[in-house]
Amino acid sequence: MHALTRPLQREFYSLVINLQALNSAEKAADRLLIEPAICKIRLEYHPPNNSLAEELSVLKDLSHLFERNVKWAGEVKDKNPDFFTELSKQQAPEYLWIGCSDSRVPANQIVALPPGEIFVHRNIANVAVHSDLNCLSVIQYAVDALKVKHIVVCGHYGCGGIKAAMGNEENGLIDNWLGHIKDVSRFHAEELSQLEGDEKFNRLCELNVLEQAANVCNSTVVQSAWKRGADLSVHAWIYSIENGLLKDLSLSISSPQDLEKLNS
Ligand SMILES: [Zn+2]
Repeated sequence: MHALTRPLQREFYSLVINLQALNSAEKAADRLLIEPAICKIRLEYHPPNNSLAEELSVLKDLSHLFERNVKWAGEVKDKNPDFFTELSKQQAPEYLWIGCSDSRVPANQIVALPPGEIFVHRNIANVAVHSDLNCLSVIQYAVDALKVKHIVVCGHYGCGGIKAAMGNEENGLIDNWLGHIKDVSRFHAEELSQLEGDEKFNRLCELNVLEQAANVCNSTVVQSAWKRGADLSVHAWIYSIENGLLKDLSLSISSPQDLEKLNS
């Protein structure tokens, strides 16, 4: 056991925590499709020295998440024994979701779709700008390789990123990112100047989604896809964290002509 490298030991110890959560080697073997004898050996394994145990204290503190993971994987397998085997062969999602990182807005759960159905990119305030190589790379992979048919830009009311962009407080590095929201605010200054309080806040959340969706439409990836006749639509949605419901902001662009109509 001492011959194992540190990363291997770490992996091994994490497996032990996982298996201990299952209470029996037989049950673990059944869940993980491995030999009961191997499970027993692993269940009996303890880290060889204190320093490793200390090093892994963070992992131990998060053991409840591994327990939940084992339980979840088991439940999914109980419903569909081939689920993970099938999913491991390929992913073929029809949707790309560009949403906010906010923990209350999880893409798959909101639209009740299982793993494998949505390709997801999330960042603070669901921004999709032409200089963000991360977001653009996700769009390119989703469109060119996965051939998604829909790109949904989904914002949400009560977005902390939008709220911060509306104020003048200094927040450090993130203020550079929030500059993109301030741009949206500036583009729509006239409309926003007519509003106050929550109404203004909510409207900026909506306008930001519409602007980011327009950015996606204008990206070289989406423009090229449309030029070659790809079946691809861009949508703008907003989610309410107060009632769990989505609202379509009535923007659905499927061609450069649609985009021209929107801009005219
Ligand atoms: Zn947000």
